[in-house]
Amino acid sequence: MTVYSAPVEDMRFVLSELLHAETLTELPGYEEATPDLVDAVLGEAGKLCEEVLLPLNRSGDEEGCTYENGVVRLPSGFKEAYEAFVQSGWGSLSADPEYGGQGLPATLGAMVKEMACSTNISLAILPGLTEGAYHLLERWGSDEQKAKWLPKMVEGAWAGTMCLTEPHSGTDLGLIRTRAEPADDGTYKITGTKIFISCGEQDATENIVHLVLAKLPDAPAGIRGISLFLVPKFLVKEDGTLGPRNGVSCGSIEHKMGIKASPTCVMNFEEAEGYLVGPPHKGMRVMFTMMNDARLAVGMQGLGLAEIAYQSAADYAKERLQGRSLAGAKAPDKPADPIIVHPDVRRMLLTMRAYTEGGRALAAWTALNLDIAAKHPDEAARQEADDLVSLLTPIVKAFLTDIGSECANLGVQVFGGHGYIREWGMEQLVRDARIAQLYEGANGIQALDLVGRKMGQHTGRLLRRFFHPGMAFIEAEMENPAMQDFVLPFAKAFGRLQQATAWIAQQGLRDPEEAGAAASDYLRLFGLTALAYLWARMAAVALKKAGDDETGFYKAKLATARFYMTRILPQTSGLFAAIMAGKKPLMDLEAELF
Ligand SMILES: Cc1cc2nc3c(=O)[nH]c(=O)nc-3n(C[C@H](O)[C@H](O)[C@H](O)COP(=O)(O)OP(=O)(O)OC[C@H]3O[C@@H](n4cnc5c(N)ncnc54)[C@H](O)[C@@H]3O)c2cc1C
Repeated sequence: MTVYSAPVEDMRFVLSELLHAETLTELPGYEEATPDLVDAVLGEAGKLCEEVLLPLNRSGDEEGCTYENGVVRLPSGFKEAYEAFVQSGWGSLSADPEYGGQGLPATLGAMVKEMACSTNISLAILPGLTEGAYHLLERWGSDEQKAKWLPKMVEGAWAGTMCLTEPHSGTDLGLIRTRAEPADDGTYKITGTKIFISCGEQDATENIVHLVLAKLPDAPAGIRGISLFLVPKFLVKEDGTLGPRNGVSCGSIEHKMGIKASPTCVMNFEEAEGYLVGPPHKGMRVMFTMMNDARLAVGMQGLGLAEIAYQSAADYAKERLQGRSLAGAKAPDKPADPIIVHPDVRRMLLTMRAYTEGGRALAAWTALNLDIAAKHPDEAARQEADDLVSLLTPIVKAFLTDIGSECANLGVQVFGGHGYIREWGMEQLVRDARIAQLYEGANGIQALDLVGRKMGQHTGRLLRRFFHPGMAFIEAEMENPAMQDFVLPFAKAFGRLQQATAWIAQQGLRDPEEAGAAASDYLRLFGLTALAYLWARMAAVALKKAGDDETGFYKAKLATARFYMTRILPQTSGLFAAIMAGKKPLMDLEAELF
């Protein structure tokens, strides 16, 4: 079976020693987020994930969800586990106390999400979607809507969904056909079919709050004509109690590759009562609040699965006896050495470890800036943090889900044939990780967001939020002899990223297809370089602590940092060459010759 112990020590290291997250207590509203409280939350949430969520991960995969006459049931034990999760407050960690939340930083919430996704991604999706819907309503809802819907969502009694996709409209949401007809009483009648709706129907919550994209009768064509509506499963009476069933129902659930314990629903809206959220025709802008939240959350899914794949593979590699070390027997009393002696197995384990710990630092850095953007008293500081979050969001989503999938596959490889059969749980991780690269904007679309929107925004202001601290770090550490192994490779990758950025910006202006052709390689180059920046900073911390290292934690950090710089970061050289080759090798072949 997979093994998992919440990586609380590494989370503490990232939060406290790398990012000094205790400074969050200086922000208004976060005074209570002291290191002691952070420790307690990580410890308690980790325990629940290990003891309640993980034991259901395999059974949930095998049993799956069931559909009967419009009723969808989660696998056995899921409702109870969901209740335990929300009753412990983990679903409402960062929600405003005004609505019953705990008002804790998103940085801490990100760590809890990672643990939940490691142990049971299917279950984690349900409160994750509700949190995204909460943020959307908190930002765009009227006071009346907030008072009516948010407290029950924060409590976890009502769940949220996002209803965008239609059969003919996936990435291209301008094509949606769902209609919203104004009724006489200020409400709307929503009619249409949405597909692939995660948790569109389930039996764990009393009510479901669907956030639905639809078009008003006078809507402009395409993406500019979309509005957003709140459509509940059950109507809610004036006194807050549940009224009759609304005209929304689940037509079927999908049979799919992974996340089998998370229902993926076809949702039929038949003159369902809905309420406009935000201005008419501005639904995409409104939905982006939830989409940005979901993109970061999906990045945590990739990271969480990479972590459990790593832990399981490392554990197995220390036990499995096959072959002898090329340097001479390491366990001469046993019939063979454990496979961890083999360089190739170490390559796989260290790759997983370097991606996972680096990815955690990247996710936490992004979440910390989300908190600064939300709470800092100084507007310039808020703007700066918001810029960095905007820049990093597509990278967190795409790069962390790519490495999630890669690490899950490496995990199977470490187990050999035993990884491929079901018994050990490793093949489930591969199947579960795959979706995160697809939904919430396929990773290719994230790359286009990075080069097409984020790169040029405010004449490169967003990019400078990364380039300036990166450059300052290089200048500060370049002459430090102890840092040479880290700062030199980072500086090289940084230079490649800068050159590639300038090239794409220039070529893209002349020919957008050039930017499109470079996009995915550029996002990977950016992700690898961002991890190098964080690995170099982690190495700087670990070097200072090397003398005070009883457990070997800092020694392992330095070894992993060296591995990252020498064995992974050189990928940036190949990516740079691929970017510079331009669009021609991609576009020359006529479509009919494929
Ligand atoms: C399990 C599951 C759960 C889901 N949950 C939800 C949910 O809760 N709510 C919801 O609304 N949707 C949900 N989705 C839908 C998901 O977000 C879409 O599948 C996704 O957005 C991609 O749309 P598509 O599948 O139609 O692919 P398409 O849009 O057809 O894309 C196919 C491929 O073409 C590429 N492509 C498309 N357009 C472009 C372009 N302009 N430039 C470059 N490449 C392009 C894409 O990157 C992709 O690789 C879910 C899907 C699944 C499978």
